[in-house]
Amino acid sequence: MMEVQGLSKAFSGVAAIDDFNLTIREDEYLTLLGPSGSGKSTLLRLLAGLEMPDAGSIRLNGQDITSVPTHMRHLGFVQQKYALFPHMSVSDNVAFGLRFREVDPIADEAVVSRRVKDMLALVGLSDLGARMVGQLSGGQKQRVSLARTLVTEPKICLLDEPLGALDANLRERMTVELKKIREALGVTFMHVTGNEAEAIAMGDRMIVLDRGRLLQVDHPDVIFRTPASISVARYINAYNILEGGSDASHFRFGEAAFPLPPSVPDLGYYAVRFDAARVLAEGEAAPENSACMSARFIASEFMGSQVTYIFRLHNGGTFEVVRHLSREDPVVYERDQQCTICWGASDGLLFDKEGNLVPVASGGGVAQ
Ligand code: ADP
Ligand code: MG
Repeated sequence: MMEVQGLSKAFSGVAAIDDFNLTIREDEYLTLLGPSGSGKSTLLRLLAGLEMPDAGSIRLNGQDITSVPTHMRHLGFVQQKYALFPHMSVSDNVAFGLRFREVDPIADEAVVSRRVKDMLALVGLSDLGARMVGQLSGGQKQRVSLARTLVTEPKICLLDEPLGALDANLRERMTVELKKIREALGVTFMHVTGNEAEAIAMGDRMIVLDRGRLLQVDHPDVIFRTPASISVARYINAYNILEGGSDASHFRFGEAAFPLPPSVPDLGYYAVRFDAARVLAEGEAAPENSACMSARFIASEFMGSQVTYIFRLHNGGTFEVVRHLSREDPVVYERDQQCTICWGASDGLLFDKEGNLVPVASGGGVAQ
């Protein structure tokens, strides 16, 4: 278990990691989502000991390791660039971490060879042990890099955008494999990504980072259903975010007004999940307890089993409606056609003027 407390690091007076607190559990898959420049790599480098914090502490299983050098931390780090030896074979690259590590190097070649073989089997490279790394594809290099780190049996494995260089197909396959490999070894993974779908699909828990600050940490489905702030809602790319104001009973967005539960404080934003909204058929009345507004159709996008309808709002913004084709047929709209979009009034997420989620109790009314 790793406990990070008040960790801060600035470069030339600008905070890259700002008062970061987190407990990393044993045997968990933790994903870390943040836009480019939000401090993801800096955080991993701090945890790995490649960067010294300005403030804060890191404890590993109760021991303060804040100033323990990198090679004594028993952490694995798969960096953004593979950093493999191109003139060495796959096996030698993987064996390197065992033969030459500073703590407890393994001299018995039979042991090295067995562990390398087991690890190559785990990452699906059994047939390629003798191949030179320079002759591998991107996906294969990624596996070698992972194998080289995991063979040293780290307590926690830090992965910096491990799938970033792979094409979409391979990326999808590797997400499944990474999960399997992690489960087989029972080692904690902290997987950094700029891709929200990856963070949501892979993590047992997920962290959202923005400008060096932790915005939210929770199970991905909790973050997905109840993003703690407008920034989180934006980064997970699943919500339409409408900026407006509220009175006692309604959220006002231009001409539209969406009913609110009783005793809501002043609101600044209202968010509707892409898949919570639907488009009314021509002449169809708005269902009871719904919120509706009118918008102009721009385009449809088909993606596998779902279709996204994209609308233009009065303020120039867009609004997306995602429908699953297993449940209904796609509908063709004319470009610029004026449509009515509706969602259940209780499906709207409410945010105050600072952009923080206003929790609403399931029975209606603001949660205390
Ligand atoms: P991410 O990995 O999320 O893209 P980084 O951790 O690489 O973000 O960077 C966070 C911020 O810290 C950026 O503004 C970046 O320019 C700055 N930064 C990172 N490393 C250094 C460094 N060694 N020297 C100066 N600035 C740095
Ligand atoms: Mg980075």
